[in-house]
Amino acid sequence: MATVRAPIPIRVSEDLNSFTIAMRQFDSAAEKMGLEAGLREVLRRPRRALSMSLPVKMDDGSIRVFEGFRVQHSNARGPCKGGIRYHPTVTFDEVRALASWMTWKCATVNIPFGGAKGGIVCDPKHLSMGELERLTRRYAYEISPIIGPDRDIPAPDVYTDAQVMAWIMDTYSMTHGHSAPGVVTGKPTFLGGSFGRNEATARGCFFVTRCACEKLNVQLEQATVAIQGFGNAGSIAAELLSKHGSRILAVSDTRGGILNRTGLDIPALLAHKAHTGSVVGFPNSEPISNEDLLELQCDILIPAALENQITLLNVERVRAKIVAEAANGPTTPDADLILHQKGIMVIPDILANAGGVTVSYFEWVQDLQELWWDEDDVNRRLEKIMVKAFSDVYATAERYSADLRTGAYILAVDRVAHATKTRGIWP
Ligand code: NAD
Repeated sequence: MATVRAPIPIRVSEDLNSFTIAMRQFDSAAEKMGLEAGLREVLRRPRRALSMSLPVKMDDGSIRVFEGFRVQHSNARGPCKGGIRYHPTVTFDEVRALASWMTWKCATVNIPFGGAKGGIVCDPKHLSMGELERLTRRYAYEISPIIGPDRDIPAPDVYTDAQVMAWIMDTYSMTHGHSAPGVVTGKPTFLGGSFGRNEATARGCFFVTRCACEKLNVQLEQATVAIQGFGNAGSIAAELLSKHGSRILAVSDTRGGILNRTGLDIPALLAHKAHTGSVVGFPNSEPISNEDLLELQCDILIPAALENQITLLNVERVRAKIVAEAANGPTTPDADLILHQKGIMVIPDILANAGGVTVSYFEWVQDLQELWWDEDDVNRRLEKIMVKAFSDVYATAERYSADLRTGAYILAVDRVAHATKTRGIWP
């Protein structure tokens, strides 16, 4: 007798592995542009990857071993470039994905770098300054054979900052016998950092969001905004947008979110966050969950935290007109398709947050020349590059009747493929 089975519930599931997602995004553009098979194989994979164990003497005398990675995806258009992430959830696949996104990002804004990324599996919130310094210096030592001003130039990412960059620069300089400020970017300005680097990711995001508003006839001066993540990228984006008249309705961090439909007072919120360590509990606001924030009715939604925030599980409820991806990889490919169908303009991460690496490029140029630009000069150059990149991406997307992410990928992959092909496959 045949057994009667209960109907299998239809589950909405998608592969959230960052590297699988990066591959899907690349394959989709490569297919659309008709990229030849051999080049496709070369450009899909990282050029090289280093995985390491990092023993550290802890303050209590014990020894802990941390896991670290540095992945170099491509150096076809110049030295590899990409940040270093300290986070408990870092994985090799995540770092591989982030490294390839750096290649496409540098090519989208047309700066002469390839792509790389690094990461250490750790929770810096639970490390003392001494432990953090020893971990960073050991990591810098382990990656020093493959980094350098002409090879691979790290930068800050989630939970790393100018101090961490200064330790890496010092460790590299000490082991090479000369001071090498050009080995990292995002350093303190008094050690060869660039003015405007700290604000650059958010400022770049602001410039391309303004371009998107012009295309969609959204008045930036009156636009309503929700921002997930209130760190470097998110908090400075909030500051810049509110200075230009936009109303920041909601922001969030790991502890939760806050909402004020008439607009949050951003300078006061920055002071609150500096004082308490979180946006939560800000006066004149009500709590909002990170999930609800993403679904808020607003003109501009800025995911500025981590990957996979807009997925098949919530995409139908996203109601913004523009999604400006300050974070890397916040939208899954399946959710991306639905946003496009819904007519929501997504400014892809490889364009929206490329301001950071653009000013990192300016920092590297200044370090090599030992000649310093003032902040107005940096911001003017950044604006020119971001506005041109938006226009190039928009035109490519129109030419291929595609969304902006596909447009950006086609533009970037074409540039990297052209460089790779012209250099030739050695030997
Ligand atoms: P950061 O460490 O300064 O800030 C991260 C913020 O996100 C913090 O406020 C944290 O509380 C919040 N956050 C973390 N998980 C969250 C969650 N699940 N929900 C809500 N908030 C959460 O990091 P950052 O430099 O601002 O980087 C943020 C994103 O921007 C990352 O994806 C990073 O790769 C990307 N990015 C940063 C730069 C840069 O120059 N800083 C450049 C390019 C891309």
